[in-house]
Amino acid sequence: MSTETHDAVIVGAGFAGVYALHKLRGLGLDTLVIEAADGVGGTWYWNRYPGARCDIQSMEYSYQFSEQLQQEWEWSERYATQPEILRYINAVADRFQLRDGIRFNTRVTAARFNSHEQRWTITSDDGAEVSAQYFIMATGCLSSANMPDIAGIDSFAGESYHTGHWPHQPVDFTGKKVAVIGTGSSGIQCIPLIAEQASELTVFQRTPNYAIPAHNQPLDPQFVASIKNRYAEFREENRHTAFHADFRYGELNAMDVSPEEREAEFEARWEQGGLPFLAGFADLLFDKEANEMAAEFLRRKIRSIVKDPETAETLTPDSIVGCKRLCVDTDYYKTYNKDHVSLVDIRDTPIECITSNGVQTVKQEYQLDCIVFATGFDAMTGSILKVDIQGIDGQRLKDAWAEGPKTYLGLAVSGFPNLFTVTGPGSPSVLTNMMGSIEHHVDWIADCINYVSEQNAKSIQATPAAQESWVTLVNDIANATVYYGCNSWYLGANVPGKPRVFMPYIGFDTYYEQCNQVVANGYQGFSLGT
Ligand code: FAD
Ligand code: NAP
Repeated sequence: MSTETHDAVIVGAGFAGVYALHKLRGLGLDTLVIEAADGVGGTWYWNRYPGARCDIQSMEYSYQFSEQLQQEWEWSERYATQPEILRYINAVADRFQLRDGIRFNTRVTAARFNSHEQRWTITSDDGAEVSAQYFIMATGCLSSANMPDIAGIDSFAGESYHTGHWPHQPVDFTGKKVAVIGTGSSGIQCIPLIAEQASELTVFQRTPNYAIPAHNQPLDPQFVASIKNRYAEFREENRHTAFHADFRYGELNAMDVSPEEREAEFEARWEQGGLPFLAGFADLLFDKEANEMAAEFLRRKIRSIVKDPETAETLTPDSIVGCKRLCVDTDYYKTYNKDHVSLVDIRDTPIECITSNGVQTVKQEYQLDCIVFATGFDAMTGSILKVDIQGIDGQRLKDAWAEGPKTYLGLAVSGFPNLFTVTGPGSPSVLTNMMGSIEHHVDWIADCINYVSEQNAKSIQATPAAQESWVTLVNDIANATVYYGCNSWYLGANVPGKPRVFMPYIGFDTYYEQCNQVVANGYQGFSLGT
């Protein structure tokens, strides 16, 4: 049987894979996307739980590569819902005629670099092998669902769901006794809506989180027009910011202003809503004392919303704000004022096991009809390492990353030529508006492929020295911030046994400059194979 050959194989048809297909086709490359799901959308295909929506404003959480597309698409709300975002990505796939380049219902299981041919052989779960010069992992940072290791988890006789693998038909919780395990962004989004239907809702919380109100609303046509009138310029401005987003970054330090000014700014940010809260002052993510002031403001807010003092205390974090992803909510704290909603602090009363009837803690058994696992993801490396990737001399990526992921620019890995990762570890990715990061990476990869071809080379890879300095830089930057201050998934701390390494590069603006500099210096830190 002859092996199918392509110029490039992309794994994943989320926002990254879909744009990469369009971009590489534009270069004239014969490109195949392989996707495990039966449709495009990635995150927005899988996470169909009630309340799922973006936490970056829709006007920014969208592609910018086509001026016509961004002018014509009409978002309905400030933060679009999952169905609306899924409609958008499907419309993009149709508009740019991309579906015929995507092989759905197929999971890539392995990839091996052949040093002689300088090509990759990619194997999928249907047994097929595909040969490609370029191999692009667009597998997503939050695409490998994390099921907790709780004894008896398979013995539950009721319905159970993970937020990241939600059924395609809406789940009806009406009149049911429901548990939600996990209070990260997914839990915080679904809990208020599940509470509207369930007869009883019990939330099992390990660590309380800070949440800022979304103040979601229909988009004001005047606001939309003010952006569309200068969309390209608006995007360009955001590209030069730390989060690749229009957060109105405060230039003053919280420590340098009066208590009244500080309170006024926090209050204004709370009223504005969403992630820009942490951009209010320049030192909030760098100075623990400044951070504590923001944290204390939020603690007071929680206590003012939640009526039962004991529940309010359990919901109030004592941790650094922002070192775990800040949550954006609609009525989350208020939901605990409902009589049929209760909160169990599993740090005090741990879950012993799951039984056929429900959840058994050290104190009691909770009889349940449904359990919702909002327990997050094996973030940033999970989906990459599920593929058995072998580079030069058969070196396995999982061995190269045994002590934590090592990349150059979060885009390339030494010893793995022509392998690119979109929003890989070591890039700003999850600490940005990911749409901006995705497009930046895809454009950078396309330019790099062009460069290889212009040089009449067959391959390109990061040098070990460049990679080592990059890993050191990513760590040094993180060390100067508050991000090491809690057990976050940024550090891999949510997955037992995962190496504790801070994975994202902090600061899109400086990252963008570094990537440009690498190119200006003739792909500094890369070597070519001819
Ligand atoms: P994904 O959308 O994760 O797509 C990856 C695709 O790869 C998936 O379809 C998967 O099936 C496929 N895949 C993986 N492994 C394989 C394999 N071995 N073989 C075949 N296919 C494979 N970011 C923001 O900036 N703002 C937000 O508001 C925001 N909200 C989010 C809400 C939720 C619920 C979650 C989970 C994440 C959110 N994110 C948000 C992050 C979000 O993941 C990114 O914004 C973006 O959608 C990622 O796109 P992607 O294409 O890189 O990855
Ligand atoms: P998450 O932030 O990792 O939260 C998972 C929750 O499950 C945490 O409360 C965690 O507790 C708990 N948990 C994990 N394992 C557990 C166990 N064994 N027993 C009990 N509790 C356990 O995951 P997520 O909520 O799915 O969000 C992941 C990321 O996706 C977000 O940070 C964000 O980037 C993105 N997202 C964005 C939105 C949005 O608003 N647009 C919505 C959803 C997701 P601990 O904290 O103690 O580990």
